[in-house]
Amino acid sequence: MIQKENLSKIKNKLDKNVEIVAVSKTKTVEEIMQIYNQGHRNFGENKVQEIVEKQKILPKDINWHFIGHLQRNKVKMIVGFVHLIHSVDSLKLLDEINKRATKEAKTINCLIQIKIAKEENKYGFDINEIDSVLEYAKNLKNVNIKGFMGMSTFTENQEVIENEFSSLKKVFDDKKSHEFRILSMGMSNDYEVAVKNGSNMIRLGSIIFGKRI
Ligand SMILES: *Cc1c(COP(=O)(O)O)cnc(C)c1O
Repeated sequence: MIQKENLSKIKNKLDKNVEIVAVSKTKTVEEIMQIYNQGHRNFGENKVQEIVEKQKILPKDINWHFIGHLQRNKVKMIVGFVHLIHSVDSLKLLDEINKRATKEAKTINCLIQIKIAKEENKYGFDINEIDSVLEYAKNLKNVNIKGFMGMSTFTENQEVIENEFSSLKKVFDDKKSHEFRILSMGMSNDYEVAVKNGSNMIRLGSIIFGKRI
């Protein structure tokens, strides 16, 4: 069930510089259209097959965000239309994005995913790898590194979440520039803490679309 008023409520209480990506994974095109018809244009998906199918059917002015772990052999399926890849978690993946983007004469906007959570199953670079990743990316002409993405530990402990978000904000401030200006942190359950700690892009699924089954 779409939580009809939630998106506008959240938008109204957020600062204008915070962008909302509506995470539509597992949701139908009809459900996405309900949010689209409220004027929303940024949608996020975490599976290649799903984003490709939805992109084909849905209006062309949607900005598609890829937010899940991306396998290298599937990069070619999304480079033609993807607006922002949030989940660059290896140099090999970055190379492949650059290669495919070059072939299509495009520049692909990317975020470097940083592992701020303690959980083992989370993808991403360590904070201490950031300098070398950014240095490496400078040589890739067809990728544009726009910022960082981070996910907090799944916990009720607000202090843990706050520390994780603020640690990434610190590095972000250090690297920030005209081009490098997106900090993608925060989901339905922790976006308020994320925004308080400097996030300017939040990825909201269940709070907008209702629970995923
Ligand atoms: C599913 C997902 C979200 C949204 O999760 P909700 O808790 O439903 O808001 C955000 N970011 C990523 C990377 C996701 O996979």
